[in-house]
Amino acid sequence: MEHLSNNLIKIKDRIAEAALRVNRNPDEVTVVAVSKTRALDEIIAARELGIRDFGENRVQELQEKAERLAEMDIDWHMIGHLQRNKVKYLARIADINLIHSLDSLRLARQMEKRGRMAGQNFNVLIQVNTAGDEDKFGLSPVELFSFIRRCREFPHLQIRGLMTIAPFVEDPEEVRPAFARLRNLKEQIAELDLPGVKMEHLSMGMTNDFPIAIEEGATIVRIGTGLFGPRR
Ligand SMILES: *Cc1c(COP(=O)(O)O)cnc(C)c1O
Repeated sequence: MEHLSNNLIKIKDRIAEAALRVNRNPDEVTVVAVSKTRALDEIIAARELGIRDFGENRVQELQEKAERLAEMDIDWHMIGHLQRNKVKYLARIADINLIHSLDSLRLARQMEKRGRMAGQNFNVLIQVNTAGDEDKFGLSPVELFSFIRRCREFPHLQIRGLMTIAPFVEDPEEVRPAFARLRNLKEQIAELDLPGVKMEHLSMGMTNDFPIAIEEGATIVRIGTGLFGPRR
């Protein structure tokens, strides 16, 4: 899978260039390889190139892949919208590292319940709809603040930062304001210094726009097609 190693070299170059433009250390940026729809051998090949973090957007696909690749040292990320009736499957995935898509109070309640039952804490990011996009999941910036103040009700959820999905646009410069907004929200929340809330991560940027997200402070970029090629 030579295309994989070539793609990875290009991605790493672009990460380094973007970080240097804004005086950041490129090592602060984690690549989550988005492996939804990809076969296990593609994931294994990417792991052998040194990628450790993989993201899936469906719980059952994630659970199946995590089980079949249990021998490999992989950190799994749930990046897609999470339905409340799927949270029970999530609690069974041993190597689940970070859930990027906490987007409602009802989901938080369900995760708290399952976490308590399983004796498990979940590391989560809160998904924010920074572009005010009607058909995207995520809390509005206003809802985010009322939500964050209630997080003490969920001791099994460790809030580790924020995530956003920018709309696809031809010119990724257009989504820079959405990324800047997410960074500002992270800074404002960090200042509140709430228990159980650590604003360490900004998960933003995909194949089309990750260099701009890095310029605006992304610590996690989620890259699918740029690494594995077009999805089938
Ligand atoms: C599919 C997906 C990605 C990766 O998108 P690419 O454009 O293929 O890099 C990133 N984040 C989320 C939430 C996704 O569902």
